Amino acid sequence: MSAYSNLYSLQDQLGTDRTTCVEIVEYYLENIEASKHLNIYVEIFANEALERAKFLDKKLADKSTKMGPLYGLVVSIKDVLCYKDHVVTAGSKMLEGFNATYSATAIERLIAGDAIIIGRVNCDEFAMGSSNENSYYGPTINGIGDKRIPGGSSGASAVSVQMDTCMIAIGSDTGGSVRQPAGFCGVIGFKPTYGRISRYGLIAYGSSFDQIGIIGKNIRDVASTLHTISGPDQFDSTVTSMPVPDYVSDLKSERQNLRIGIFENVLNNTSVSPDIKTASKNFIKLLERRGHQVDEIPFDLLEYAVPAYYVLTTAEASSNLARYDGIRFGYKSPNAISIHDVYTHSRTEGFGEEVKRRIMLGTFVLSSGYYEAYYGKAQKVRKLLTDRINGIFEQYDLIVLPVAPSTAWEIGSKSEDPIQVYLSDIFTVIANLTGIPGISIPVGVDFEGMPIGMQVMGPKFSETLLLSTTYNLLK
Ligand code: GLN
Repeated sequence: MSAYSNLYSLQDQLGTDRTTCVEIVEYYLENIEASKHLNIYVEIFANEALERAKFLDKKLADKSTKMGPLYGLVVSIKDVLCYKDHVVTAGSKMLEGFNATYSATAIERLIAGDAIIIGRVNCDEFAMGSSNENSYYGPTINGIGDKRIPGGSSGASAVSVQMDTCMIAIGSDTGGSVRQPAGFCGVIGFKPTYGRISRYGLIAYGSSFDQIGIIGKNIRDVASTLHTISGPDQFDSTVTSMPVPDYVSDLKSERQNLRIGIFENVLNNTSVSPDIKTASKNFIKLLERRGHQVDEIPFDLLEYAVPAYYVLTTAEASSNLARYDGIRFGYKSPNAISIHDVYTHSRTEGFGEEVKRRIMLGTFVLSSGYYEAYYGKAQKVRKLLTDRINGIFEQYDLIVLPVAPSTAWEIGSKSEDPIQVYLSDIFTVIANLTGIPGISIPVGVDFEGMPIGMQVMGPKFSETLLLSTTYNLLK
């Protein structure tokens, strides 16, 4: 049991002098120390977090100052978010020792909201992966099970919440990287609509897919954080100017009689594990008991989602990562003599295997002669998927899906087979291909005790509906 179960009660304890921000930070630092063997943090901001806690305690004592909405909230940040004057490396040797010269908008807003950032956590290199095994710092281990992966790429973010080393983790989700690790670790993971949260200061992977996401232990904390970090930003023109609703007070406005769809190819799919099928059926029953109507709906485009996703994201990644050339950004090989060698040696030595695989694939699908056959076709698939999903939302309020076809696998067991790992993203990439929001919530465990997550997705900007529906389901 956590000493601090949610932000609401934590702030109540602070307001009635039953705890202090310093005590809160000390508590989480102890948990970080106790979970060191899981390789969650790549850097702990211990002194800085304690200093900030003292500052916030003083601010709170001065009754005339108004506290920010997140005061006392202890947060971990994924190693892809720029935090001014702090190192950010995207889990890569390429950026070893790189100091951020500005903060991501989401980080600025957390700080303005009086949150406390406790450290920077591990992830797959440049957020490419589903298991957190592709990191320069080595794998992070799931706190549940024996040597299981935590999911990825925000694997350590999920474990940081699971092991109670912070209350909220800020990650990024390009194809499931917040929802899938949350599902594998038994916590909540939320990817908002593309363009809800500014991507300014988030190290780019696939820019038309990337979205900052939130991992937490309860919906209310996730809603509070989302409310604080969302909204227009002059530094990211893809962020909508649509007003940010009050996600927290809207939690109680539960909508009745929802029409919910589940793809029929999930429940009869041989690659979905029997325990996950059972969990999906039980989830459907739960929704029906709450008075919602759940229909199995045909979705014959499912098999095209993963190929389209990997063609498009590798194309975007090959372009985004071109900046790491040993000159403008990134590691510079000491073995280079000619200018050509600077590029090739620096990139060969600086990037890990998976990142190189994706840069090559992305460069290939964009090359003249193949562009239309791969990139052009994948764009058409993306459009088809988007039209079809929008069509479903004309009849249905929500779509539910498992987070993944299996639970967390053993570390190393799929390392030789990247395609098998790519295929495990089948249920999460749809939200990023189509820009819609999705939330994963824990619904139980499989026969080995590994967590199972279910995903709830809605039309663009249906965050309020997703949060209030899951809030009431988990209550
Ligand atoms: N597993 C997916 C990939 O490797 C998703 C990663 C992510 O969302 N950052 O691309």
